[in-house]
Amino acid sequence: MMLRLISLRTVLPALLLAGLGFFTAIAAEPGEPAPAAPARAYPAPDADGKVRLADAEWKKRLAPDQFRILRGSATERPFSCELWKISDKPGVYRCAGCGLALFDSAEKFDSGTGWPSFVRPIAPGRVAQKPDDSHGMIRVETLCARCDGHLGHVFDDGPPPTGLRYCINGSALDFDPSGATAADRAPGIVPPAAKAQP
Ligand SMILES: [Zn+2]
Repeated sequence: MMLRLISLRTVLPALLLAGLGFFTAIAAEPGEPAPAAPARAYPAPDADGKVRLADAEWKKRLAPDQFRILRGSATERPFSCELWKISDKPGVYRCAGCGLALFDSAEKFDSGTGWPSFVRPIAPGRVAQKPDDSHGMIRVETLCARCDGHLGHVFDDGPPPTGLRYCINGSALDFDPSGATAADRAPGIVPPAAKAQP
């Protein structure tokens, strides 16, 4: 199953360069070495559903651009990640850090910004928010509720039915074409099977 959770960013170059090596074909920032082997075996959450890792551990698990965004709140260049233009493929968008299902492709739209944009998270409690007054702007930051990874921001200029625009760094997401499971659509970050019985 984990093999299916490979981001499209990884798959497309790999297909084009078939035979040259799967993991060496990953797009990297100019001047930066390609990551040796992206860890797509997501870290196991604690009993409360959270994932807590030291930065040094995240650095080992994530590609450089993923680390800068998820753990350093950086923003990728617009139109730099292929995920922004995928609109006709059904699937689920997971946190690239911890694998939590965050967004459904059915609720993705082309905002024209060059970043993947969604009208809402896949389930309540999946995307946390906090005020962000950096860079001279007043914005609302969005974070993965499981690993607290920085995703992007949410704005109130989106289309119906929510009027919201979740503007997300594509490199913070893994596109999973196998779709969402029932647990992926359950509210919160603790899988239903793991919740304590009343
Ligand atoms: Zn996460």
